[in-house]
This record gives sequence, C-alpha cells and structure tokens, in this order.
Amino acid sequence: MRRVAVIGGGISGIATTFYLNKAGVPVDLYESAPAIGGRIGSERMGGRWLDFGGKNIGRKYRRFREFVRDTGDFPFEYFGFNTSQVIDGKVVSLTKEGRQLSNLFGFLKLAGPKGVSMLYPWVRAIMKDNAQGMLRTSFFNDIAGRFDHVSLADYFPRRCANHLIRPVTVRMNGAEPDECYPGNFGSNLALVLDSYEQLKGGMHQLLEAFADGRSGDLSIRTGHRVERLDRCDSGRGVTVAYTCNGQGGSITYGRVISALPAVQLSALLGGSLPEAVEILDRVRYYPVSVAIAAYRDNVFPKEQRAMVFDSTSPLSNAGAYGIHDLDLVRYTFSGKAARVQINPESKAEDVILQAEKKVLPFFSIAENIRTSMIYKYLSPGLCAYSPFHHKLFSELQQSLASFSGLYVTGDFRRGASIEACFAAAEETVKHLMTGELS
Ligand SMILES: Cc1cc2nc3c(=O)[nH]c(=O)nc-3n(C[C@H](O)[C@H](O)[C@H](O)COP(=O)(O)OP(=O)(O)OC[C@H]3O[C@@H](n4cnc5c(N)ncnc54)[C@H](O)[C@@H]3O)c2cc1C
Repeated sequence: MRRVAVIGGGISGIATTFYLNKAGVPVDLYESAPAIGGRIGSERMGGRWLDFGGKNIGRKYRRFREFVRDTGDFPFEYFGFNTSQVIDGKVVSLTKEGRQLSNLFGFLKLAGPKGVSMLYPWVRAIMKDNAQGMLRTSFFNDIAGRFDHVSLADYFPRRCANHLIRPVTVRMNGAEPDECYPGNFGSNLALVLDSYEQLKGGMHQLLEAFADGRSGDLSIRTGHRVERLDRCDSGRGVTVAYTCNGQGGSITYGRVISALPAVQLSALLGGSLPEAVEILDRVRYYPVSVAIAAYRDNVFPKEQRAMVFDSTSPLSNAGAYGIHDLDLVRYTFSGKAARVQINPESKAEDVILQAEKKVLPFFSIAENIRTSMIYKYLSPGLCAYSPFHHKLFSELQQSLASFSGLYVTGDFRRGASIEACFAAAEETVKHLMTGELS
C-alpha cells in the first residue's frame, strides 16, 4: 500500500503509526512540535525526565503494553491507587492496597447507598466485559439514549456527584459533573476499576526508542505544522499543506489519518468541510495545568500519597509522582475554579505557592524546602466529549464520507485514556485497510 500520512505525533498518532506499520503500510507522521509525545510528553528537571501528562498505565491496558513490548525492554513499576479527601471535616482515604473492608467503607461514604445502587449496574457491565468501558459501546449508548439529557450532577445524588464523580471528572475530563454526561462515564469508570503501574524509565525513554527504532516504513516529520487538509482536485486523496521552519509545502496522499484532538482537526478543515467543523467544535476540551515540584524531604507518608480538593479549589489534586517518589509532588489544576484563576499567562511560582498553601494542613510542606519545579499549562488539556456523543460521532462519520481518503482517530473516538487512544487507532487502521466501520 502507498504511504499514509498521520497528522499529530501524540500517543494517538504514535498508536496509528504502530498499527499501520504492523500491517506493512509506510507512514509519514506529521508533528508540529520539535518532538513527538503531545500530552504524554516529558520535561527535564535536574538529571531526570518527568512526565507531565499521561503516565499511569492500567493493568488492563493490553494494546499499549503490546506496543511497549514491541518497542523494547521497558519495565513497569507498581503505582497503585491511593486517594484521600476531606468529608465533613475528616480525611477519608481509598486505596487498593490490601485494605478491602476499609476501602469498601470509604467507597460507601463517598457515594452514599443510593449512589452505590445507581453505579452498580454500570460497574457490573464493565466487570463482565471490559470492552464496555470505552466511549460508544452498546451498554453506554443505551445509557446515553436514556439519560444524556441531564448531566452527571443531575443524574447522581449530590453527595455521590461531589465526592465520587467529581474527583473522577476533574481529573480525567478537566470538567465538573455538570459538564459531563452519563453515556460517557463508562470510559471513566473502567479506569477507576483498573489498578496502575508506570514505566520505570518514564514515557521519554519509550518515545525516544520508538523514534530511534524507526525503519524506512516510518518518517517522523517533527517541526511540520499542518495548516490545511484539502480534497485533491481529482476527488480521490487528500492534500496536506504544512509549514516547516517558516517554509510552506504540500503533499497529496491517497489516505490521511488525523490523530488530532477534535478542536485541532476542526481548524484544518474550515475550507473543505464546514459541516464537519460544526460537529467537531461540539466536542469540549478544558485546560489543565500540571506542576511537578521536588522537596528536600518526603512530603507524603507511604499510606497516604494523594489528596483531591473540592470545587472551590483550583488545585484539583496533589499526589506523589511515583510510589518511591514521596519527595516529588505532582500538582494538577483543573475544573471550573482552575479555569477562573489560572490562564496561559499565570506565573508558575504564583500557581505553585497557591497549591502549597492548600496542601499545608495535610502534608509535610511547612518545614520542607522546595528544591526545583517544572510547570506546564496544557490547552487543549482534557477531553470532556459531548452529550449523546455516540450520535455526534455518527454524524461526523457521515460528514467525512464525502471526503474520500480522510480518516479520523483521537481521544474523542473511544476515550481519552492512553489505552482508549490505542483502541481508536486500531479500529481506524482496520477501517482504512478493510473499509469496515466501527
Ligand atoms: C495532565 C494529564 C494527565 C493524564 N494522565 C493520564 C494517565 O495517567 N493515564 C492515561 O491513560 N491517560 C492520561 N491522560 C490522557 C492521555 O494522556 C491523553 O488523552 C492522550 O495523551 C492524548 O493523546 P493524543 O495523541 O490524542 O493527543 P495529543 O497528545 O494532544 O497529540 C496531538 C499532537 O498533535 C500535534 N499537533 C497539533 N496540531 C497540529 C498540526 N496542525 N500539525 C501537526 N501536529 C499538530 C500536537 O503537538 C500533539 O503532539 C492524561 C492527560 C493529561 C493532559
């Protein structure tokens, strides 16, 4: 098969490339930044590369783990699941580390009996078939059809929405429960039901090995910003117009796969497919900021490694970077309060001082000394999809049918987790190879 262009070198584009190359299809991968990675990218702090985006890998991430094995020998280390929050003036902790009874009690406390009974059928559906825990599956399409006229805040009892649903949506969608919908919640719930590891050497090592190990089947075009995607004059194929180092160029491919967030794909289609633009613009993205700070001494005790904060706080959660990194804190700012108080111009030092004030009553910050930090404002940050998302996606597929040769994957197809990005890439490549749609 002739070369295929993949637009976007985040994990969706990398996954798409992986599946295309596996099928023997050569790829030109376009990435506007100087390096691939997008929202699983890393920054150097001292002598170490640290991941500021996606880094927690579920035990059920089958596809991503296959990619890791195929790329080289990259061991994982345990990260677990550990979170705390203040309810009625008391700290309530949830952990998957050998405390099943207190965990169950904590869960009941967060959700309340009514919340538990409402969540139970959803949990059972995913436990029976893990594939249901993504966007647009049969079980959750039915939930969407029946309930997506209300938000999660209106669907669940208030206690459950505030203490169980909110920590999940601000973390995974950058959004409040009143900005998220029942039909999409399976893609979050599957992640809560998993338990986590991280790559010992971080994402940076993996991405470097992927980029270095490429054969003639893959050309990685970093620094190439795609400006437009146009139907080629013959009606078969897609012209990719790009700029690189201030110079413009264009190449026509028989097939192009966009692996961009919906909002970024929309910007490339304005001239050629206005109806798709209208659909893509309905997919919501919210910004998220991440700061990673190193302290002289440990900040966390081993048994309480993370804390989530309520809707009045721009700091949505603070947690140890890794199970052995109790002196390294990853602060995440997302949700409505973060959107009001933090913007692209906010100074890193102001943002982190605010966060340190917030965690002061809970962790060993007061006598501690911060030795270094990195900070990033990400926009688009996290995808919050749309109500009746399955219908939106069908409309998008219909509108793309008139654009021969253009295929679409990304975080809004099956969900924003790294594994969901792989699942979306796998089915998009299958669509391209066989014409089969899912
Ligand atoms: C803070 C944070 C923490 C997260 N934690 C986890 C986690 O622990 N586990 C997990 O499973 N998931 C996690 N996620 C979710 C997951 O990391 C993301 O959903 C995923 O990385 C999105 O990848 P993507 O390739 O779809 O998009 P992106 O990573 O945004 O990739 C798009 C790429 O396209 C490039 N691009 C944009 N426009 C153009 C253009 N015009 N031309 C060329 N290139 C362009 C961008 O530079 C970017 O590299 C997290 C996300 C965030 C933000």
